Amino acid sequence: MNLLGIDIGGTKTALSIGNERGEILVDQRFPTDPDNAQKTLTQAVQVAEELIAKAGLTVEQIDAIGISAPGPMCSKRRMILTTPNMKGWDHVKIGDFIENHFKRPTFMQNDANGAGLAEYWFGSCKGKDLIYLTMSTGIGAGIICNGLLMAGVNDLGGEVGHMTLDLSGPLCGCGKTGCWESYCGGKNFADQVRADIAKGVQTSILKEAGGDPAKIGMQEVRAAIRTGDPYACKKWDVFIEKMAHAVGILLQSFNPEAIVMGTLAIHGGDLFMPQMLERIPKYAWKSALDVCRIEASALTNIGELSAIAIAIAGVRHSNKG
Ligand SMILES: [Zn+2]
Repeated sequence: MNLLGIDIGGTKTALSIGNERGEILVDQRFPTDPDNAQKTLTQAVQVAEELIAKAGLTVEQIDAIGISAPGPMCSKRRMILTTPNMKGWDHVKIGDFIENHFKRPTFMQNDANGAGLAEYWFGSCKGKDLIYLTMSTGIGAGIICNGLLMAGVNDLGGEVGHMTLDLSGPLCGCGKTGCWESYCGGKNFADQVRADIAKGVQTSILKEAGGDPAKIGMQEVRAAIRTGDPYACKKWDVFIEKMAHAVGILLQSFNPEAIVMGTLAIHGGDLFMPQMLERIPKYAWKSALDVCRIEASALTNIGELSAIAIAIAGVRHSNKG
């Protein structure tokens, strides 16, 4: 199969032509205009046409198109409903626009679901019942069971970042309190550190960020932990505990063969995975933990592969009628 992938992110849009083995033949990326969907989509169509020609193909030889985009979205109507960082994209019928132009079957899913499909088709736990966890600004999951994506009745199936772990916990961007993401989402975590520093808390995290609170991220927090900074260590302790709690719920609910994790797990090194694994037995049965591979994602271009995997899943699903 020849597949066109369109990965729309908050800052960049990446297009690629690939196949069902996860081989990317050609690709190109350009900045997303968060306020102007029409402009970005028009450019995407133009770049896609160039890539199709560069790959030595015609549009008719493209079997399907996959679109990965931020949620919340409606995958059936193929549009983003509302997303905080892309104001100009609300209710724009992205799938219709692309399909009307190319006249090829077009499928769309949110980025976490796409990444779950990419892990299922191309990742280190290929072919397994797995849960992929985005672990960056926010937390979301792509849940794959028997080769099928569990997106839920209105695309909220993988919104595990908003499972409530403690009602008295921090306020989350979604309006609830104590969501997993309110403790472990990169944005919430950094915001809390900044707020504590503004209140006068002393921590070397600020020094690691060159004295600029805006530059505080997980990298700076990890650097501070390695110097033994008491505040950073305490904050990280809560982070790891909540990670173990939430992953324990997933193990107990889905009994997956694998849980594959993104950014924070990839960069967390010895501070992340071993610490979290040590605490999981408090939250899940050993029998569920023992059969599950829990590891960081090994896919380096997961955005592009997500869009390609969405196209594959769309074709397979529609063939089953
Ligand atoms: Zn929430």
